[in-house]
Amino acid sequence: MGVPLLEVRNLSVNYITMRGVVKALDRVSFDLDENETIAVVGETGSGKSTIAKAIVRVLEENARITGGEVIFEGVDVLKLSEEEFRRNYRWVKVAMVPQGSMNSLNPVLRVVDQMIEPLVLRGVPKVDAIKIAGEALESVGLPKDTLNRYPHQLSGGMKQRVIIAMAIQARPKLVILDEPTSALDVMTQANIMNLLKRLKREFKLSYIFITHDLALASELADKVLVLYAGRVAELGSADLVYTDPKHPYTQGLMTSVPTLREDKKLSFIPGEVPSLINPPSGCRFHPRCPYVMDICRREDPPMIDLKDGRKVACWLYH
Ligand code: SF4
Repeated sequence: MGVPLLEVRNLSVNYITMRGVVKALDRVSFDLDENETIAVVGETGSGKSTIAKAIVRVLEENARITGGEVIFEGVDVLKLSEEEFRRNYRWVKVAMVPQGSMNSLNPVLRVVDQMIEPLVLRGVPKVDAIKIAGEALESVGLPKDTLNRYPHQLSGGMKQRVIIAMAIQARPKLVILDEPTSALDVMTQANIMNLLKRLKREFKLSYIFITHDLALASELADKVLVLYAGRVAELGSADLVYTDPKHPYTQGLMTSVPTLREDKKLSFIPGEVPSLINPPSGCRFHPRCPYVMDICRREDPPMIDLKDGRKVACWLYH
C-alpha cells in the first residue's frame, strides 16, 4: 500500500464566539486514497463543513485549529505559509465546491471572467486561461460559449456545472464537495451525481463528499465517516456502514434515511444535537442513545478497531 493522498490526523478546531468556545471538531482522523470517495455524513452542526474549510484553509476568522495535521501527499499543509498553500495547493491540487456556491456567482460578471480569475492570479496567461476554462466547461457537459453568458442566463443545474468546472479546471487531485446538490430539484440532482461519477473516472479524482443525505452519499462513497457533534462516531467501507451499521448513532441515521432529504433533523433519533459550547460529558451521543451505560456518561469512548477494518467510537464494542 502506498502513502494515502490525504491523511487527516487528530484534527481539532474551535470557534471563539460571544457565547463561549465552540468545540467544532475534536480529534478527527481519516485517510483518503487516490480516486477514492469518502462521504462525511452527519446532522447540521456536526462539524462537516469545518472539516472541508480546514483542509482548504478557508476557516472563518474566529476559528482556531487547536491540534492535528492535514497531510497531503506527505506534506502537512497546515504548516505551509499562506502564499505557498495558495500557489501549490488551493485550486491546484485541492479544490472545493462550497455549500450554496452556485448562488455566489457574481451576477455582473460573465462566466469567463469568474472562471479565469484564479488561473490568471496564479500567473496563467489570459489566453491560455480562457482555453482551459472552455475545456473545463465542455468536460462538465456545457458548451464553450457558456463562457460569454451571465449567471442569470443559466439554470440552477448549469450554474452548478460552472462551479464544478471551476473546481476541476486546474486538474486537482482532490475535490471537496459540500452538499453539492442541496439546492437542486431531484432530476438535476441525479444529473449532477452522474456528472460527478464520470469526472471521478475520467480525471481519477478523489472526493470528500459532505452531506446530510445518506442515500445520496451511497451513490458515490467508497467509505463513510459518520460525524456526531464534532467527533468521529464510525468510519469504514461504505458497504459495511450501510449494511451493518455498528454505532448507535449510525443505526439511527440509517433508520432515518427516507426523511433526510426533507428534514435535517432526525425524527427517528429523539433529542437534539448537543451544544458544542458545553458538550455532554463522556460520549457526546449519550443523552440520545438507547443503549447508554454508566460509563458512557463519565468517559469518552475509545476508538475501537473492529476486525472488518472499521472504527467505532462506542463503549459497546470495548
Ligand atoms: Fe451509546 Fe454509550 Fe456507545 Fe455512546 S458509548 S453510543 S452512549 S452505548
